[in-house]
Amino acid sequence: MNYYSLLHNSPKTTFKNAVVNGIAPDRGLYFPENIAPLSKHFIDHISEYTNHEIAFEVIKQFVGDEIPEEKLKEIIAKTVSFDFPTVKVDDNIASLELFHGPTMAFKDVGAKFMAQCLEYFNKDNDDEVTVLVATSGDTGGAVANGFLGTKGVNVVILYPSGKVSDIQEKQLTTLGQNIKALEVNGVFDDCQEMVKTAFLDKEITKTLTSANSINVARWLPQMFYFFFAYKALHKTQKELVFSVPSGNFGNICAGIMAQKLGLPIKHFVASTNINDTVPNYLVNGIYNPKPSKATISNAMDVGNPSNFIRIQELFNNDIEALRRAFSSYSFTDDETRSAMKKIHSSSGYVSDPHGAVGYLGLKKYGLKENEFGVFLETAHPVKFLDVVEDTLPVSVEIPEQIRGIMNRKKIATKASSYQDLKDFLMN
Ligand SMILES: *Cc1c(COP(=O)(O)O)cnc(C)c1O
Repeated sequence: MNYYSLLHNSPKTTFKNAVVNGIAPDRGLYFPENIAPLSKHFIDHISEYTNHEIAFEVIKQFVGDEIPEEKLKEIIAKTVSFDFPTVKVDDNIASLELFHGPTMAFKDVGAKFMAQCLEYFNKDNDDEVTVLVATSGDTGGAVANGFLGTKGVNVVILYPSGKVSDIQEKQLTTLGQNIKALEVNGVFDDCQEMVKTAFLDKEITKTLTSANSINVARWLPQMFYFFFAYKALHKTQKELVFSVPSGNFGNICAGIMAQKLGLPIKHFVASTNINDTVPNYLVNGIYNPKPSKATISNAMDVGNPSNFIRIQELFNNDIEALRRAFSSYSFTDDETRSAMKKIHSSSGYVSDPHGAVGYLGLKKYGLKENEFGVFLETAHPVKFLDVVEDTLPVSVEIPEQIRGIMNRKKIATKASSYQDLKDFLMN
């Protein structure tokens, strides 16, 4: 499979190169040249397939012959190694829980898949690849875990000092081995800026790549979730509406890809916190990115969503077509807390702030009689323990995955300027 740059100023390239390089030489995001729908027979009989078989059917055309079938199946088995349950919270609404992986965030799937692909592609190469990633919290932990022990790959994670939760900080600073953390004196945007500068710096001769959702190997496996949800819910005989709590819009964009593959999805709702660049765009047709604002759903504090350009491509840059299939609404922290309370009092279900934003999106959309809503629950409530326990009359039990790291020792190098990152990378 070939990929082209959405800025159209670079040659087409292979899946391998798209994964190894992250973005195109013209700084554009890569996009697959073809998207061939899956057979109707497969979709109609989805209940007869295991999750591994479904994932293989969904991803194989995007990898092509660049990874042998047997190897790809192995990679999928390591990636899809936990459950993705749907839990009903209302007559016509279910939560799709994506947080049962090793770091309890949905990014575990993309991070693991990408790590495995990179290890495979780099196996005959003596040079190591350095994965550079900026995190506002969840990405760092998932990438650290997904890449731990990956041969030929070093990982450098930049995170804003004091702006990630204790658990998140432990997840990205305590693993050791090939995982290094830089604690940046600044906000997430500063970390992101430092990473971008490093990619453009000609004096850094190391091979650098990114593990943000701009990388096709992190973005595309997220299609799996929508197929798994369809497998669980198609028996409702209702049309599915997905609400995806969105930050960089990679996850929802993968959902739209799943729809392109023929998965029957009625409508998408991109639910955001007050970082409302996309909701505003749908209203007034002007895309006006802004600096991010801090919220209680901090994994979505993104002012300039990197994957939105892929969504526009999927709708041929036709805003009217986009508006028919896709809505986007923004919610405040107060609304988010109220939603957490409402969900809990009516069903006993404990949602994290991101899931609650997803739930609000379904409510605002207004499900019709023949529709069933699914909101993606992207993080376990324990990842946002303070907010959850301040908002709801519950105490969240710390799961095994998390207990294991709480007593480990944090190891991080302080950085306050781009030069600090550069020095770190150069020696
Ligand atoms: C990353 C993240 C999101 C946003 O996903 P995007 O693909 O960037 O839109 C939502 N919730 C949680 C918990 C996340 O970690």
